[in-house]
Amino acid sequence: MKKVIYYGKVPIGGNNKVTVQSMTNTLTRDHVQTIKQIIELEEAGCEIVRVSVPDSDSLKAIDRIKRKISIPLVADIHFNYKLALDVLDTQIDAVRLNPGNFPKQYLKKVVLKAERNQIPIRIGVNSGSIDKKILKKYGNTPEALVKSAVQYVDYFESNGNNKIVVSVKSSNVVDTIEAYRLADKKIKYPLHIGVTEAGTYIRGAIKSSVALGILLNDGIGDTLRVSLSSHPVKEMAIAYQILKSLGLRKGGINIISCPTCARTCIDIISISEEIESRFGQISDDVTIAVMGCVVNGPGEAIHADIGIAGNPDGTGTLFEKGKIIKKIQNPKIEFLKILENFLISRNSN
Ligand code: SF4
Repeated sequence: MKKVIYYGKVPIGGNNKVTVQSMTNTLTRDHVQTIKQIIELEEAGCEIVRVSVPDSDSLKAIDRIKRKISIPLVADIHFNYKLALDVLDTQIDAVRLNPGNFPKQYLKKVVLKAERNQIPIRIGVNSGSIDKKILKKYGNTPEALVKSAVQYVDYFESNGNNKIVVSVKSSNVVDTIEAYRLADKKIKYPLHIGVTEAGTYIRGAIKSSVALGILLNDGIGDTLRVSLSSHPVKEMAIAYQILKSLGLRKGGINIISCPTCARTCIDIISISEEIESRFGQISDDVTIAVMGCVVNGPGEAIHADIGIAGNPDGTGTLFEKGKIIKKIQNPKIEFLKILENFLISRNSN
């Protein structure tokens, strides 16, 4: 079990739940837009948020942002040791840096000050920024990523800093899995898992689901980010679906919808999509079935709380917990209304 590190009040590691993170893509110095995006992320379930701090104006925005949000704020800093030192005087909850980007004498100042100010640091090693000597010896491999990370962990510890979270991300799924498996054996601090530069919405979601799914199922990973070349809010749904698929989070609707075939009697695709868009954000733990025909309908979806199956005449059969309730004439309109009332009545009970 990993050591527990706190980002603000949020624990990472130990037996704590795997937390979901994201990163803003607004200009951090534009605190108004950045706060707006963080609040959107919070509403979508983001539990820790990171902002880039590339300049002194962004640094000045940190405390203003912090005052308006309720989730922990992490500063992402590269190359500029002065910014890394100065951000430790703000209300920031944690800092992410790649120690390889700082000259040793300056890194030491950051490590000592972070310890003094009790601010955790995520040592974020990526395949693109492995320590040069290690890279020469091991090539760009998962082993090199982990050796690089372990070297920095040792350095932090030797300077009395053990408020550390570690990531060893690669843009390659297989390398990411291997790197985190190795890191899990060698590092006692919490692991922030993710596939770096995972790509566009669909490709990135799939790469992240495969890598994070395998790792989490093996009990590896204490906090995660799904990185997408897309609006950061979209990362939330993927992250939560990964966790829910593995039983690591509960809540929110689960839609069981059939893939459709020649037997399909009702418009499964549009009904399912409408359910997703209207009820996708609710936190109720409810399973909804949308099945194209009665042949496999209620039977296959017997565990659904509520569902519909198409009839050959285009009507629908409404069922609850596998029990047929009634026939409905206009499957899409009526079922959505029935579903809405069903969700309201569950909440009022
Ligand atoms: S539930 Fe019916 S319509 Fe849907 S895929 Fe199965 S057989 Fe086809």
